[in-house]
Amino acid sequence: MVDFALSDEQRAIRGAVRSFIEKEVVPFENDVLRNEREGKPGLDPATLRELQDRAKRHGYWGINTPEEYGGMNAGAIMSAIIGSEVGRTFVPFRFGGTADNILYAGTDEQKAEYLIPTLNGERRSCFAITEPGAGSDARAITTSAVRDGDDWVINGEKIFITNGNEADFVMVFAVTNRDLGANGGVTCFLVDRDMGWTSSPIPTMGEWGPASLSFDNVHVPGRNVLGEVGHGFDLAMQWIGQGRYMIPARAIGAAERLLEMAIAQANNRKSMGRPIADYQAIQWHIADSQVEIEAARWLTLYAAWQVEQGVDARHASSIAKLHGAVMANNVVDRVLQIHGGMGYTKELPIERWYRELRLLRIFEGTDEIQKRTIARNLLKGNVKVGAALS
Ligand SMILES: Cc1cc2nc3c(=O)[nH]c(=O)nc-3n(C[C@H](O)[C@H](O)[C@H](O)COP(=O)(O)OP(=O)(O)OC[C@H]3O[C@@H](n4cnc5c(N)ncnc54)[C@H](O)[C@@H]3O)c2cc1C
Repeated sequence: MVDFALSDEQRAIRGAVRSFIEKEVVPFENDVLRNEREGKPGLDPATLRELQDRAKRHGYWGINTPEEYGGMNAGAIMSAIIGSEVGRTFVPFRFGGTADNILYAGTDEQKAEYLIPTLNGERRSCFAITEPGAGSDARAITTSAVRDGDDWVINGEKIFITNGNEADFVMVFAVTNRDLGANGGVTCFLVDRDMGWTSSPIPTMGEWGPASLSFDNVHVPGRNVLGEVGHGFDLAMQWIGQGRYMIPARAIGAAERLLEMAIAQANNRKSMGRPIADYQAIQWHIADSQVEIEAARWLTLYAAWQVEQGVDARHASSIAKLHGAVMANNVVDRVLQIHGGMGYTKELPIERWYRELRLLRIFEGTDEIQKRTIARNLLKGNVKVGAALS
């Protein structure tokens, strides 16, 4: 049986999260726009913490975090549904109590020092693989880690690292065996900022503010290897692949909110004596957006379902990520068009969404890389055409 209905519990949680976002988070949108336009972070850390505490009192804490760490362990499908609700606002809010899933690969000591404080919001991490010479081709990283007694010495540059300027530790990927490279020669290290790496922010067209990181003879104790020496690349790919469905999930929420704005505008704005909603040109923008959003929803839920089933979800996640990212950019562009000149101004938040959503087609695998993955899977016979129904 194919069942497209949400369970009563899923519907109830989705409704409660929507109500929380609308009542508690959306009211900050004007503050966020004002702060960002003054060059400040949209939400100051104290306000974010207060919002997360309020969410925790409502029971939203560690949505995808195992129960043994105090989380909800809601599963991938519920996470995708919640992610869509959070995506309805551009306020840089996320529920607390979560950590990058590769931290669960740590030893008990590493969990106590890095994972638990991150879950509690006491520490902040960043994930650094990209380098100036290695983006889509992540296997080409050259940052090196060389043994020095019980320590490792790291040298190299990382670029475009989200939270890189705020984090107090980094999960950094470095080459520990040049002959093996990504096939067993890359290792992940947990490196505290006070071990000596430095960062500088990279201004972008969005408000996400990544940073470049510099490692100049940074000494790291051997106990800070995350996972096994030489298995860092597999760990990185596993992390990126497992959570990829969350990108289109958030895109769906953003696109739905934008489409609601467009519908209101189409009904209210008059041109040549009639609401612009009467014109087929506008109706097609609205219809195309709705079709693409619905397609993104089912592709995303399917990828999340595969993650929940414990099967290899990489192909489905690539399809969902590619379609979700392109969809959100199509929708925001149409919504801006429906708003005419006002859509282009800073009086409305559409330009803010426009800049933010553009990133979705670049990070965690560009459109082109997703297409490459999908095509290669089919051409090599790893995935059969129509496999979703087999
Ligand atoms: C705001 C932001 C936040 C980020 N956060 C992080 C982070 O936290 N941690 C991290 O490690 N990285 C992060 N990244 C890096 C991001 O993952 C890379 O930017 C992305 O993988 C693309 O790499 P690149 O920028 O070097 O582009 P390139 O790899 O140089 O690609 C340039 C163009 O060529 C295309 N291309 C490249 N190779 C192929 C190919 N084989 N076939 C077809 N087309 C190809 C690409 O699709 C793209 O259009 C972030 C980036 C941004 C912008």
